[in-house]
Amino acid sequence: MSITNNEATIRVRFAPSPSGYLHVGGARTAIFNWLLARKEGGAFILRIEDTDQARSTESSIEAILDSLKWLGLDWDEGPEVGGDFGPYRQFERKHIYLDYAATLLEEGHAYCCYCTAEELEARRAQAIREGRSPGYDGRCRNLSQAEEDAFRVAGRLPVIRFEVPDDRDKIVVEDNIRGGVEFDRSQISDFVIVRSNGLAAYNFAVTIDDALMEITHVIRGDDHLSNTPRQILLYEALGFELPVFAHIPMILGEDGQRLSKRHGATSIGQYRELGYLPEAMINYLVLRGWSPEEAATTGEEIYSLEELVERFSLERVTKNPAGFDPAKLNWMNGLYLRQTDPDRVTDLALPYLRQAGFTPEDYAREKLTEIVDLGRGRLNCLSEIAGEVDYFFNPEVQIAAEAVEVLKPESASLVLKAFREKLMALPEFEPGSVKEAIKSVGQELGIKGKSLFMPIRAALSGRLHGPELIRLISVLGRDRCVDRLRAVAN
Ligand code: GLU
Repeated sequence: MSITNNEATIRVRFAPSPSGYLHVGGARTAIFNWLLARKEGGAFILRIEDTDQARSTESSIEAILDSLKWLGLDWDEGPEVGGDFGPYRQFERKHIYLDYAATLLEEGHAYCCYCTAEELEARRAQAIREGRSPGYDGRCRNLSQAEEDAFRVAGRLPVIRFEVPDDRDKIVVEDNIRGGVEFDRSQISDFVIVRSNGLAAYNFAVTIDDALMEITHVIRGDDHLSNTPRQILLYEALGFELPVFAHIPMILGEDGQRLSKRHGATSIGQYRELGYLPEAMINYLVLRGWSPEEAATTGEEIYSLEELVERFSLERVTKNPAGFDPAKLNWMNGLYLRQTDPDRVTDLALPYLRQAGFTPEDYAREKLTEIVDLGRGRLNCLSEIAGEVDYFFNPEVQIAAEAVEVLKPESASLVLKAFREKLMALPEFEPGSVKEAIKSVGQELGIKGKSLFMPIRAALSGRLHGPELIRLISVLGRDRCVDRLRAVAN
């Protein structure tokens, strides 16, 4: 099945409900939509689905917009930018839904239902006991005007239900990813389209919005697949043309359960705070459920946004759930951190250094950039930077237990003393001469390899792993090196 509709420009949307933060799963949905729009020269629309006023908040809208911007996903229509198909917040579209509900009522596709929650529950329980389908039983389908009046006089507020046509035995969702998915008519009872508070229910609002906003491709998580037959019935009753549906697989935690807080960080905002790079998040998330064609042969996993735009296609989205593997994300982010311009990483590292109580301003910018560059070698994310470079900022080195061991032998003291003397005597403190100094210490003492380098590293940084030793020494500077060598071996 082709996804490209040659006559019309592609219009896709991301439609978050603002009741929390931007979840990585939601972000992945947004990324797929955005990539398709950019690839096809179409429009990416952002619509805020805030009909559930009890759960929607302004701060959540702000957090979602912020996260999208941080990821680098811009929208062509929606909040802040406007557009010809607005408003883009469902709450501001209430009257539109009510107009369509009135039409459906008039045309006999919908009816007012006065059943109370208790009545519905009692009949549901009874249906289950009797082995019947527990959906709405159609009790209010054919109320007379007198019956309706009586309910209203009794103070009952109706909901509006869609009347699912009895002549349909099944509804088939032609899904671009899963193929034809059949739903039996018995699974779908007359559903609520307008609640008793006058607000449209999700399926109703989303159908009207997608149709009026001329959305050509509805790409969303497959947790919505079971809603789609209801939406298809609404499209038909309202006389709207169906869009292409593409339900993308859920992102699951390593235990196979839907990704949630107990799996760790799940919001884009959290990853941002932890010091992940937006391009790494995009690269990682886009590969959850999709892969470029060539990846099967090359095994390539690193793609810039431009490369993704060029390669993206719905055809290569998988049906199977996608796993979220934090270790893989860390690996990828670490890779991006090491490939990124050192100046940018330094800017991003500053808040974490300050948070750790250091004053990065004590260093000239050039030096600071070098420190961050040395520290990023083993990072998963930038919030780990302070732990990697603390020995540049702390006046004294904290010697880790494993480093204490390396410093114990007599040979270690000899190396440190000899190196200290050579350092002090160097006419010029520069990488080449430092390297020579270490070499000659080794030759004079007949010590080489680890026994030569490890004590120096341990004395200067307090640990056994870290950046290249000569660079570490250069950045620390001669005076501090001499002090630290003396502190350990006088
Ligand atoms: N507002 C829905 C959600 O956040 C998405 C609806 C849709 O994409 O159709 O899950």
